[in-house]
Amino acid sequence: MKSSKLSVVISAPSGAGKTTLIKRLLSADDRFVFLVSTTTRSMREGETPGTSYTFVSEGEFREMIEKGAFLEWAMVHGNYYGTPKKEIDRIQHAGKIPIFDVDVQGARTLRGKLDGAVYVFIVPPSREALETRLRNRKTDADAQIRIRLRNAIRELKEYGLYDYIVVNDDLETALEHIRSIVTAESCRRERVSHIITGILEERGDNSD
Ligand code: ADP
Ligand code: 5GP
Repeated sequence: MKSSKLSVVISAPSGAGKTTLIKRLLSADDRFVFLVSTTTRSMREGETPGTSYTFVSEGEFREMIEKGAFLEWAMVHGNYYGTPKKEIDRIQHAGKIPIFDVDVQGARTLRGKLDGAVYVFIVPPSREALETRLRNRKTDADAQIRIRLRNAIRELKEYGLYDYIVVNDDLETALEHIRSIVTAESCRRERVSHIITGILEERGDNSD
């Protein structure tokens, strides 16, 4: 599935604030629609099935892999996560910009499949801030936090996969940076050149 339409792929080490930023981004700007992934992880408090994720069993997930339902899928922190192809179609047909929330493996796979995507990496201002945020969130047990911190260091090394890096120190500043990135991307020559060619064709004159 090759698509040159604008989409935004966002990754971050767990606890950097990606969910918070994406929620704020979606509530303030109706250009964006969240792409609901499918996962085998259990539902957390405050999550809604079908909105946060589509929650399935491992058997159901494997069936979806076999049917080719995912554009990409990966095992993250011991659970399966996948991007369903039909979600992307639904959002792009509605003329909206899909926001992909994927880990670094997902971003790497999507790189070869989504031509029009912009890749954004959200990072914490420090390791200490990351650990504090993971602990304050109170969604994971101590062992899970240790796994997530170890994975975070590994994920940070993959920053070269991304076009832009947003440091989430002050939340409002980080939000402003993401919005600016999308606005700049939507003004890229290759995305708007059809307007100019249209004007030139209307005039019946493509010469100087
Ligand atoms: P992620 O989705 O990247 O794992 P979350 O959005 O769940 O991270 O954020 C982790 C914790 O950090 C949450 O408790 C959230 O309220 C907090 N947080 C997010 N952004 C900031 C920020 N800029 N400053 C301080 N705390 C933040
Ligand atoms: P969480 O369990 O905290 O919601 O997510 C854990 C990690 O899985 C996050 O890094 C998130 O970006 C990633 N993730 C969520 N959905 C997908 C997906 O569809 N594909 C991939 N590759 N990663 C995903």
